[in-house]
Amino acid sequence: MTTETHKETLGFQTEVKQLLDLMIHSLYSNKEIFLRELISNASDAADKLRFEALSDEALYENDAELKIWINFDKDANTITIRDNGIGMKREEVIDQIGTIAKSGTKEFFNSLTGDETKDTQLIGQFGVGFYSSFIVADKVTLTTRRAGLESSHGVKWESAGDGEYSIEIIERSQRGTEITLHLRSGEDEFLSEYNLQNIIKKYSDHITLPIVMPKVTTDEEKDETIIEEEVVNTATALWARSKSEITPEEYTEFYKHVAHDFEEPLIHIHNKVEGKNEYTTLLFIPARAPFDMWDRNSRHGIKLYVRRVFIMDDDEKLLPPYLRFMRGIIDSNDLPLNVSREILQHNKQVDLIRSGTVKKILTALENLAKTDKYATFWTQFGKVLKEGVIDDSGNKERIAKLLRFSSTYDDNSTQAISLEDYVKRMQDGQEQIYYITAENFAAAKSSPHLEIFRKKNIEVLLLSEQIDEWLGSHLVEFEGKKLQSVTKGELNLGDLENETEKQEAEKASDVLKPLLEKVKDVLVEKVSDVRVTHRLTSSPACLVADSNAMDASLERLLKSSGQSFGGGSKPILEINPQHPIMAAIKDEEDESRFKDWVLTLFDQALLSEGGQLDDPAMFVKRINDMFVSMGNLSSSRIITFD
Ligand code: ADP
Repeated sequence: MTTETHKETLGFQTEVKQLLDLMIHSLYSNKEIFLRELISNASDAADKLRFEALSDEALYENDAELKIWINFDKDANTITIRDNGIGMKREEVIDQIGTIAKSGTKEFFNSLTGDETKDTQLIGQFGVGFYSSFIVADKVTLTTRRAGLESSHGVKWESAGDGEYSIEIIERSQRGTEITLHLRSGEDEFLSEYNLQNIIKKYSDHITLPIVMPKVTTDEEKDETIIEEEVVNTATALWARSKSEITPEEYTEFYKHVAHDFEEPLIHIHNKVEGKNEYTTLLFIPARAPFDMWDRNSRHGIKLYVRRVFIMDDDEKLLPPYLRFMRGIIDSNDLPLNVSREILQHNKQVDLIRSGTVKKILTALENLAKTDKYATFWTQFGKVLKEGVIDDSGNKERIAKLLRFSSTYDDNSTQAISLEDYVKRMQDGQEQIYYITAENFAAAKSSPHLEIFRKKNIEVLLLSEQIDEWLGSHLVEFEGKKLQSVTKGELNLGDLENETEKQEAEKASDVLKPLLEKVKDVLVEKVSDVRVTHRLTSSPACLVADSNAMDASLERLLKSSGQSFGGGSKPILEINPQHPIMAAIKDEEDESRFKDWVLTLFDQALLSEGGQLDDPAMFVKRINDMFVSMGNLSSSRIITFD
């Protein structure tokens, strides 16, 4: 490749332009954070170089002393941030600076409301990084060279943040990245050593690399100007310091750096483990879920250090997927410095660190659960934590205690009821924890299956998240009480039912036997059985799953996600012998009308639990025909307009 490459002008991804406009407007009141973002990137670039250099020492190019330099030029009206980290190749600049590679970008833009206050919060959650330069700069020039590449492979990128950027190959001997901000007019406050130092100390003190600024002095005798480097930050690992010395602000700023988040974390968990396997963890729970959290493969936010040296990012070995919302660092004293991902896979120490860290996090959550903040945690991360019941059998009981649900206790969609609360409120003679799963909260809350439970004042947990279907099959019991879906199997309330009720039900079954047979004949393709129930008080019928079969809503979930399953199990139709419609059906002599009644009954039961009809048009027609054949409706009686 020759050095003579022409300058190209490329367009930003449309979203980038939109993001820039929004950011400049919404973050202006806190504009100094641009420096934190750029220093944070520079520090990451140094981490990446260190990691790659573990297997290729030559990448250091005889310069292993990694630093970040901050400079300003009053005359040129610029600030420069330089690092000797990994640097970028041309394609990397285009991919990483010209596009937003983050997953969830589309969702982010769809979630913007146009309301500035709300969008400002959202943008913080999205993380703006490099683009925050444009809050204070009307032009940004970035030059960079990837470690290990020749000096003729440097890259220069420049943009005024107006939808376009230029990119060209340049000669660049220095490894790493240099970013020059051409300040907008009126931003001269940043052209001050004192102010810049204060901003660095405020936001970036925890950065483990030295952040240096030039210190200019004059030697009076020789009448010479001397420029020395002055380290501005403390440059020691925050987590290695003792807890009592660390201020809440320092924790927060460190969090914003590791998590690439603008908001304060919900809590931090800082622990030193001593003994045979020594390690320190400094972990955070964010206040808000990132956009890509639902992807179980999305990047995990834990960085691994060995004796303060950064080793690698978010290896899934460090924490199980159900804790993927955690952010922070784990620093081991005992792992080898050249630890690779392969070694991590089969390392006893790593296993111990992982299980120890999980326990610490669960303890922190148990403490958090005693505070008001837990509601925030649950809203943001509850769905992910539920995966723990399925994934982590060893900690299942502890995780189960941390779960929160809605229930018929207050019919409130807020999930605030724990299994312990439920068990405390169980009625005398109640042996099981009842729950219902449905597609959404409204469907769960008004399901006909709850009628008898409401009548008898028995609490039922209302579950309506996709993961709940799996939860139901993994969380079989809690504190010795079985969890029972109210839509599955024959209703058996045990001691909660009195003898008369049981006898009445049996009697109804006997008397209605011929009717049940007739109904079953009509529905032979659709149901496996038809039986009398006393779980309904106001609805005429409902569908239940066989006690061994899958829940109907789980089956629908699998079907809709295109997964194959052994299912296809037919439900059981249960009818309410007390309902007037049943009397009408029983007395119906016209065979075709009897069929219509029965099919309508079945379709209704399916609809009321959120199912989909095979033939909705036919259902509507049958209903209308029945209306017409009733009372003062008649096919010959229509509105006339003459
Ligand atoms: P984030 O840091 O959240 O990923 P940014 O927009 O700040 O988002 O940066 C985008 C990407 O550009 C980074 O992930 C990194 O790959 C690259 N980058 C930014 N600054 C530097 C730098 N100083 N050195 C090397 N790469 C950088």
